[in-house]
Amino acid sequence: MVQSFEIAVFEGDGIGPEITAPTLRILEAMAKSQQDYQLAFTQAPAGAALYAETGESLPSASMETARRADAILLAALGLPSVRYKDGTEISPQLDLRIELDLFAGVRPVRVVPGQPTPLKLADGQTIDFVLIRESTEGLFHSKGKGEVTRDEARETLLITRKTSEKLFRFAFDYAQQRKQSGAGKGRVTCVDKANVFRAFAFFREIFDGVAKEYSHLTADHAYVDATALWMVEKPWLFDVMVTENMFGDILSDLGAGIMGGLGLAPSADIGHDHAVFQPCHGSAPDIAGKGVANPFAMILSAAMMLDWLGTKHKIETMVSDGARLRDAVYQVVADGRMLTRDLGGNSGTQAAADAVLEQITAKG
Ligand code: ATP
Repeated sequence: MVQSFEIAVFEGDGIGPEITAPTLRILEAMAKSQQDYQLAFTQAPAGAALYAETGESLPSASMETARRADAILLAALGLPSVRYKDGTEISPQLDLRIELDLFAGVRPVRVVPGQPTPLKLADGQTIDFVLIRESTEGLFHSKGKGEVTRDEARETLLITRKTSEKLFRFAFDYAQQRKQSGAGKGRVTCVDKANVFRAFAFFREIFDGVAKEYSHLTADHAYVDATALWMVEKPWLFDVMVTENMFGDILSDLGAGIMGGLGLAPSADIGHDHAVFQPCHGSAPDIAGKGVANPFAMILSAAMMLDWLGTKHKIETMVSDGARLRDAVYQVVADGRMLTRDLGGNSGTQAAADAVLEQITAKG
């Protein structure tokens, strides 16, 4: 039986459309060669350019498309030059996280042999861990609600038991899946600052409570400052890390740095009913329209989408297509001939994406 999935596509601003087009072409080619799933893409207009034109950054019709879709693929929303009246940037992706309750931000950090990384790795050594960032509360809960007087500024962090329990169960389930697939050791590290803040002692206590439900997995803790150091000194130690929104925001950019830049950093924001898949980078207006943007983070995000949909709907070919797509990107990276400028090469967006498609086709 063929199962059809509707994918809401937010191609957005800047380089968004340039990296979306080749990604959809690859997804279409993969789905076409399979008997048991089909993908239908629905464009959902949103973003800063749309706001400048119409005064709306996330029209209700696009929100409806997102709500109805089986999954959401998002390229980049926002432009530094276009702002709301209060001076903040247009970021409908943050609204989507809240509206669709996408509490778990999944940020894989992976370095394979041949991949440009600022770290000195032993020959053949790899890095493969996942950072899970709470994405609906924490310090970001204060967004738009901060109080600023001439002499003081206050922003309040929120951590709730309900969201933290969902988040930690998600992290342990994720670690369990990684262990089963041979990718991880079955270890979850709670990253916090429980030595200084009561809110983080609370966060940690909830983590320890949930950990008891997963006694077959390993649970431990690390302070966020030490984690930043260890991510650089011994990143191979980590498996799944779970943390508060703001800490996760900062550590995921450190993760992108380890991977050789934002161009290879995919992400997913996942809730119980919906999920958004998008590269960690922004709309890169400085290179937009030049055909030089790296499409790999977007393609890797699409691979995460296949994996999530396939796991959710129990379609093995979809899960294995996700893995095939990810492997194809890393093979092109390791090969080193078809890299974009940000990775030290001189290929354009199209050529780099074509190399991924060729890799997949060659492997059948
Ligand atoms: P945001 O705040 O929207 O996340 P940002 O301020 O982090 O965005 P980006 O738009 O991600 O900024 O761009 C940061 C730098 O990385 C820019 O120099 C940009 O050209 C580069 N960059 C981002 N994405 C890519 C990509 N896919 N390919 C090549 N370079 C990129």
